[in-house]
Amino acid sequence: MPDQARREENAERGTRNAELVQRARDVAGCAYAPYSHFRVGAAVKDANGVVYVGCNVESASYGLSMCAERNAIFAAVAAGGPRPFTALAVSCLDAGGGCTPCGACRQVVFEHLAADAAVYVDGVGQFTPPELLPRAFTLEAAES
Ligand SMILES: [Zn+2]
Repeated sequence: MPDQARREENAERGTRNAELVQRARDVAGCAYAPYSHFRVGAAVKDANGVVYVGCNVESASYGLSMCAERNAIFAAVAAGGPRPFTALAVSCLDAGGGCTPCGACRQVVFEHLAADAAVYVDGVGQFTPPELLPRAFTLEAAES
């Protein structure tokens, strides 16, 4: 399949769960991003189908900033949402070509979402957690 066709097909799949993607877009409008001007929203669905949202929240002390994906997942955990979570949508209002989760968020996504969960990246495509983070860190002893 030519690259362009693959990109278009993947981008279409990335918005297949339109409602979850819309929740991510909506909450991105609440982002506090005066430094990066990069507003991101995320919506995660728990095992019962309940949706929790998060947006990025920055700090003048940059290292204290928190991404939308982790804010959404942590909100779901704090609310007692049953794990593993089944789907996540991420949307950035200010990235022309969409933006995929950062490395730290990929680790958290890997830990809290099912291995076959759908991660919809608005404008980019649909992925599973292992596709986003192959060979993720775990505390399990490596098999020898
Ligand atoms: Zn992140």
